[in-house]
Amino acid sequence: MNAVIAAENVTFAYDDQPVVKDVSLTVEAGDFLGLIGPNGSGKTTLLKILLGLQTPDTGTVELFGTDATSFDEGTRLGYVSQQSSEADTTMPISVREVVRMGRYAHAGLSPLGSDDHRIVDDALEQVGIVDLADRQISSLSGGQKQRTYIARALASKADLLALDEPTVGVDADSRDAFYDLLHELNEAGITIVLIEHDIGVVTEHADTIACLNRELYEHCDTERFLETDALERAFSSARAARSTGVASGD
Ligand code: ADP
Repeated sequence: MNAVIAAENVTFAYDDQPVVKDVSLTVEAGDFLGLIGPNGSGKTTLLKILLGLQTPDTGTVELFGTDATSFDEGTRLGYVSQQSSEADTTMPISVREVVRMGRYAHAGLSPLGSDDHRIVDDALEQVGIVDLADRQISSLSGGQKQRTYIARALASKADLLALDEPTVGVDADSRDAFYDLLHELNEAGITIVLIEHDIGVVTEHADTIACLNRELYEHCDTERFLETDALERAFSSARAARSTGVASGD
């Protein structure tokens, strides 16, 4: 088995509100996984659990074959959260400096050498933002910022990229170009886990789909997923839960 992420029977509740229920999910090296489901269905929470950023109440998660609680190769994970762009808008920092952070994360306390600077330049080039390198990150558009965070992950040599709604507020052309970039990175061997609310976009780009409404409704190849009624069931369960005021999936 070549699993990048292996989660077994993962459960999580905020206070006593169950948000992730008995989810078992494996992400293989090279996968491009789309994580979909209604609003509030636990996608972000599950993603954080899968990345070892949130500890489940029960169940286990392995990252690259190591228990997530003792996983210490954080540079292998690139996580672009919904909050990423908000954090950097208040910091006077250039695009190149943000990307260098990825390299610093990798180099530890050692000063960056010429190899590190080359890797930073390559990462900027790979995501197509060389011309933005000296701009302040706060001056960039949403799509340009997302590229910067991806470059930071590439500079730290991440081989798993997890993105939570990366194209919210990004115009349609930039969004297409952004997904082309994700495809290229995936082709180059980077495993991708993506939360995206636009189901059409996910099914167009992801090779496998995990459909969630607190519990996992389906996890399979996109082609097969489109033949199932998992999405319908997940949304109708969420609607039913909203109308009764009961946590969905109960
Ligand atoms: P999604 O990403 O599918 O929209 P989330 O994982 O963000 O779902 O949230 C799942 C549920 O957990 C929602 O009902 C949300 O309100 C709740 N929730 C999320 N974060 C917190 C938190 N920090 N404290 C309490 N409840 C939370």
